[in-house]
Amino acid sequence: MAKITRAQRAKTSSVRSVPKKKSAKPAKSPPKRAAKRAARQKPWTAAEVHEAFSRFRKANPEPKGELEHLNPYTLLVAVVLSAQATDAGVNRATRALFAVADTPEKMLALGEEKVRDYIRTIGLYRNKARNVIALSEKLIAEFGGEVPRTRTEIESLPGAGRKTANVVLNMAFGEHTMAVDTHVFRVGNRTGLAPGKTPLEVELGLEKVIPPEFMLHAHHWLILHGRYTCLARSPRCEVCLINDLCRWPEKTV
Ligand code: SF4
Repeated sequence: MAKITRAQRAKTSSVRSVPKKKSAKPAKSPPKRAAKRAARQKPWTAAEVHEAFSRFRKANPEPKGELEHLNPYTLLVAVVLSAQATDAGVNRATRALFAVADTPEKMLALGEEKVRDYIRTIGLYRNKARNVIALSEKLIAEFGGEVPRTRTEIESLPGAGRKTANVVLNMAFGEHTMAVDTHVFRVGNRTGLAPGKTPLEVELGLEKVIPPEFMLHAHHWLILHGRYTCLARSPRCEVCLINDLCRWPEKTV
């Protein structure tokens, strides 16, 4: 075997010791890079989407939302209260509130100050109490005390936006809407099912690819999947029902 001379060693070590040039641009963070790669993955085929939702359905045929409510009105109030709050936190407050006020009339009779007392453990409670009273007034004045059944009307209520309308239309009236919260947004992007930069893009993407037979429950399957399996920081890919279909480049299986 040829011996390496001292001169050759010196040359090799000097090459190794040359400091690397700093790149002009800072490296992109891995999650951003991965999100871009996921968006570039080949789209799911119709058969793959059908397979994924068939598995969700088999595992949980009747998925339920976790926001407690007694009727469409209390569902509407619970969703308005849930902005930037957890379902569990909202439920702890609304159990007592809905026991005394489960209609707009009873909520008005209770008054803003008492509503505030019931919900003071929820973030932004002052503003939310004001909205609950204002939306109850509007329901009585313009909708005969009933929750309206169109997106435009629901979105016209104080404190209610597109997500609120989607949840109420889906859960109270059985419409095939797709409410995109933080979990659905993450799952839609990571899996490559419906990549999008905004909740609306993901919502429209999901509506486009999910077959109608799954749309009634699709919102809950995706929320539950994001909340308990496809976790934000450490997705549990090893127990994920759709790990063979998922396009996420960083999945751990
Ligand atoms: S394989 Fe992992 S990243 Fe993909 S959906 Fe399942 S849990 Fe999420």
